[in-house]
Amino acid sequence: MDSLEEIWKQVLSVVAMDITPTAYNTWFSDCTAVDLTERKLVLHTSSDFKRGIILKRFANTIRSVLYDLFCCDFELEVLAGDELLDYVKTGTNTPSPYPEMDGYNFDNFIVGPSNKFAHAAAIAVANSPGRVYNPLFIYGNSGLGKTHLLLAIGEKIHHEHPELKIAYLKGDDFTNELIHSIQTGTGEEFRGKYRSMDLLLMDDIQFISGKVSTQEEFFHTFNSIYEAGHQIVLTADRPPREMATLDDRIRTRIEGGLMADVQPPDLETRMAIILNKSQALGLVLAHEVVEFIAESITSNVRQIEGVVKRLTAYKEIMNDNINIPTVKRAIKDVIRVGAYIPTPDVIIDETARYYSLQPRDLRGQRRSKNMAIARQVSMYLMRNLTNLSLVDIGNQYEGRNHSTVLASIRKIEEMIKTDPDMAATVRDISSNINSRS
Ligand code: ADP
Ligand code: MG
Repeated sequence: MDSLEEIWKQVLSVVAMDITPTAYNTWFSDCTAVDLTERKLVLHTSSDFKRGIILKRFANTIRSVLYDLFCCDFELEVLAGDELLDYVKTGTNTPSPYPEMDGYNFDNFIVGPSNKFAHAAAIAVANSPGRVYNPLFIYGNSGLGKTHLLLAIGEKIHHEHPELKIAYLKGDDFTNELIHSIQTGTGEEFRGKYRSMDLLLMDDIQFISGKVSTQEEFFHTFNSIYEAGHQIVLTADRPPREMATLDDRIRTRIEGGLMADVQPPDLETRMAIILNKSQALGLVLAHEVVEFIAESITSNVRQIEGVVKRLTAYKEIMNDNINIPTVKRAIKDVIRVGAYIPTPDVIIDETARYYSLQPRDLRGQRRSKNMAIARQVSMYLMRNLTNLSLVDIGNQYEGRNHSTVLASIRKIEEMIKTDPDMAATVRDISSNINSRS
């Protein structure tokens, strides 16, 4: 059985068993199979209304027949009316509507004591969006699987309910889009877009804290989605109570849902992750090598993954035997490349603390001498410790554009050259920041 037509016939024969001939004719007489790819069956029917019925009432049956035939899960996409033309024009392999989710699912997430609560909560939310824990808030340090879980929720919900509208974005994307919508007078569209989502996945919301208009807008978006009974999942690098400049209304909302943290994995979980990632890359590692990596990298799964990838490359390029010295080299490379990049919040907090000021003094417009210097130092540090552009840096402060930022950075650069006190100050604050990694 190989042609699409035969497969579709087979599916229809099963569908027909469950319903009356009249119903069958009504919903399937003009429904045709358009395409079958590795993961997806694409159908076409005449109207949006029929599509709705097919997806709602028959999607499960159709997918279960495909599962029986191929032993794997398929997505179902139904085109209606003219959409067929676009589909044919853009080629058969329409890109996934959510490319970010590629490769992140529950199957390839390793569960251990450090993340089992967050994992269970994520599964529960993916199984019943909007019904159990709303919002779900996942927090923890960098590289511990927050984004992975967030996207796995999206992937599962999209797979099971392809009709639902999902938004995945980072806290700072939200800010940037909001600013753009204000500049271009498209605020209404912006609001409509997010408030009508069935599932909002917002990653790294620590980036909205402190930004008044973003938080205001986010609060309303949050409420619209929540009140419609739709699901919200958020991640951040720390719990809400440690986000000093988070709007209290948002904090209260988050605390009213479920908060789950992810911790660094224990040794066994790290070993399981290494085995899993190396197998996925077709790499066979000796037990002592797996153990050595697991003992050397303890606090960041992203780095563990980086080492395994590097070993795969060594093996391919140099046909190198993977022994402990090779692994040591890979680890050294990864730790250097993956050096800690502090968030703007950390830089501002630490700079403010050093000068006995509040973070909002630095973000705001006031110009006492102390504040002006502290603000300029924090800009200099952001430029040196992060990959942010001048524009991004300016956005951290009220009323600063890239040219004022650049002038501030230049000024501090000059001072460091001529004034040993300033050089020491910058060194101290840098090391405080780095100690928070
Ligand atoms: P975070 O968002 O917390 O900074 P990510 O979710 O981006 O971290 O994870 C970093 C990398 O490590 C990703 O490639 C992710 O797939 C992987 N990873 C993290 N935790 C796990 C886990 N428990 N099992 C498998 N892979 C993991
Ligand atoms: Mg992340």
